[in-house]
Amino acid sequence: MKKEFLDEMKILLDNDYNDFVKSYDNPPKRGVRSRIDNDIKKIKLDYGINEYLLLTDEKLGNTPIHHLGGIYLQEPSAMAPINLIDINPNWNCLDMCASPGGKSGQIAERIPNGILVSNEIDKKRSQTLFQNMERMGYSNVIITNNDPKDLVSNFKGFFDLIVLDAPCSGEGMFRKDSEAISMWNMGNVSTCAKRDIDLLEYANSMLKKNGKLIYSTCTFNRLEDEEAIKAFLDKHDYSVIKPNINVLNSGVKGLIDGAVRFYPHNSVGEGQFMIALEKNEDIEPINKKGKFNNLDGKELKLVNDFINENTTGLNLNLVKRNNIIYHLIKDINLDNLNVLSYGIRIGEIDKRFIPNHHFFKVFGNYFKIKLELKLDDPNVLKYLRGEQLDIELPKGYGNIIIDGLSLGGFKSVDGVLKNLYPKGLRNF
Ligand code: SAM
Repeated sequence: MKKEFLDEMKILLDNDYNDFVKSYDNPPKRGVRSRIDNDIKKIKLDYGINEYLLLTDEKLGNTPIHHLGGIYLQEPSAMAPINLIDINPNWNCLDMCASPGGKSGQIAERIPNGILVSNEIDKKRSQTLFQNMERMGYSNVIITNNDPKDLVSNFKGFFDLIVLDAPCSGEGMFRKDSEAISMWNMGNVSTCAKRDIDLLEYANSMLKKNGKLIYSTCTFNRLEDEEAIKAFLDKHDYSVIKPNINVLNSGVKGLIDGAVRFYPHNSVGEGQFMIALEKNEDIEPINKKGKFNNLDGKELKLVNDFINENTTGLNLNLVKRNNIIYHLIKDINLDNLNVLSYGIRIGEIDKRFIPNHHFFKVFGNYFKIKLELKLDDPNVLKYLRGEQLDIELPKGYGNIIIDGLSLGGFKSVDGVLKNLYPKGLRNF
């Protein structure tokens, strides 16, 4: 590790410095959020709801439970910021720098009656974000691929909660990513710190009065952490929210009131800085509705026929953008943004209606034909490999359900289940 970094850490940690350096002899810690019962070796973290520390080195990224959305792998200290405050289930939330989606998933799971706009600036990373949100089958997430400054005109004063998990110099990644060590330099720290201050300004413009802002980084540098927050608080009227005691007790107090730091030598995980603020300033919210194309009569009939034939109890708000039909989860203004999903991708019309994998993942339990399997059923692996299943069910579209979660769709014809698992995901 570079001398300049170690010198900074010595000043910051004083008596703890040697323990910090020694902690780099140990392997990185891994964590998992777990949504269904399973026998993966893990222990529950003191903070959080379904957040665990993994006690195994097993590779879990390409397993049936992962494909199902039963687990999400996430570094344990990165799970802490969302647990700093209680999140109201009705809130409208924004995750400004969201990919690959660890924090977005935590938020989505806490707001059954709210919505989350999950945004990622990098195009490729925004696709990863979409895939992760689709795999988890969340029904309340809108995904955008924009520079956060371009979100401001659509969402002025709109959100109840904004999470800014800022791009940073990544000092808390050193144990798991040697590239982060070689990329590190003080010039990059200052660049990141300046960018953080801009990002905080955009967050401020989109937060309503009394809205909450969670700011986090996976770095230890004061310029990107407390100093960035101090510069923001010098300009704006916010109160610091007292951190949830379980999070505070799992880390250490930061260098300003309300801030919490996780270090690899004295907490669970690799390193994280976090603080939660509440906005006291007034702001005039924008109240513009978005413009969508409605489906024409023929399209509407094709989609409705599919829904009536194959599902029960579904009530969808259908809109069309770029030939894809979506269920719009909330009528908010997404005009002029790069939107990967307005809510749920229902499907496309190519002479007939072709249902999308996202539809099956989110609304699997509404299908009339359900194939309920256990995770260890050999048909699960067959399905994930893209094979057809020799199972006789009534004719029509259906869905594989495991422990209440949807794995994906199939079409039942002539005594077999034709596999609709997307080709790009069949990597078994
Ligand atoms: N919140 C994510 C999670 O929990 O999975 C991790 C986010 S990562 C720390 C920061 C993200 O910021 C990266 O995905 C990166 O592409 C994005 N980013 C990079 N430069 C940015 C910029 N100028 N504005 C906004 N986001 C940026």
